[in-house]
Amino acid sequence: MYLLYLDDAGSVESRDERYFVLSGICLFERQIYYLSRGLDELAKAICPQDHEALEFHGSHMLPGKGFWRSIRDKSERAAHIRHALEECMKLQGKWTLFGVVVEKAEVSPEDPIEFAFEQICTRFDAFLKRQHRQRNKQRGLIILDKHTKETRLQTLANKFVKSGHRYGQFCNLVDVPMFVDSSATRLIQFADLVSYALWRKFERQDAMFFDVIKGAFDSEGGVVHGLMHKKSQQQPCDCPYCTTRLGQP
Ligand SMILES: [Zn+2]
Repeated sequence: MYLLYLDDAGSVESRDERYFVLSGICLFERQIYYLSRGLDELAKAICPQDHEALEFHGSHMLPGKGFWRSIRDKSERAAHIRHALEECMKLQGKWTLFGVVVEKAEVSPEDPIEFAFEQICTRFDAFLKRQHRQRNKQRGLIILDKHTKETRLQTLANKFVKSGHRYGQFCNLVDVPMFVDSSATRLIQFADLVSYALWRKFERQDAMFFDVIKGAFDSEGGVVHGLMHKKSQQQPCDCPYCTTRLGQP
């Protein structure tokens, strides 16, 4: 089975922020152990005295909140984010990233959470269908951070998986998405870092973290399917979605 761990970044309500991001990592069941172990080892190296309690959250790490305040040098905290993101590159076998970056004004009055969630589910389902065609018959399960827009996403999750979506039915998802606590799994923390990397790239024009993962979104034949950037037509963009799908910049 393929599991897709997701987390979000950016505020839906704040008028000061343009973007909402929903993204994460899709991996095969056997790979979960290896990515968890890699992040545990990194946590041990950073905080040997209490590594199990140390959580990777981009919005705490870079500004230096909680434990991360004790690391005085911001560039060192940024390096920890990059090293954590690099852990997925060590995985053997098929894995990929999915992400939806929504310019809120472009989907208004539609709910950006609903837009992003539907896009992610559709793209994950399409990935599973493609695996199926390549004789890799696997089903999929989506796992979300419990504290992230839980009520809204749970309602959407039930609606989409039971009654389908605007493009049709999901064929390959085994159940409605599951919600877990980020402190209980390193994989949700990894999804947090992917979303933070996307948020920094699009909201803050800082590609320092995105550059680590930009080649890892689901793609086939040079076309990126795993990343979706919803933006105004006129705005040029160098992201893998816009360059491979829209011929930009
Ligand atoms: Zn773009």
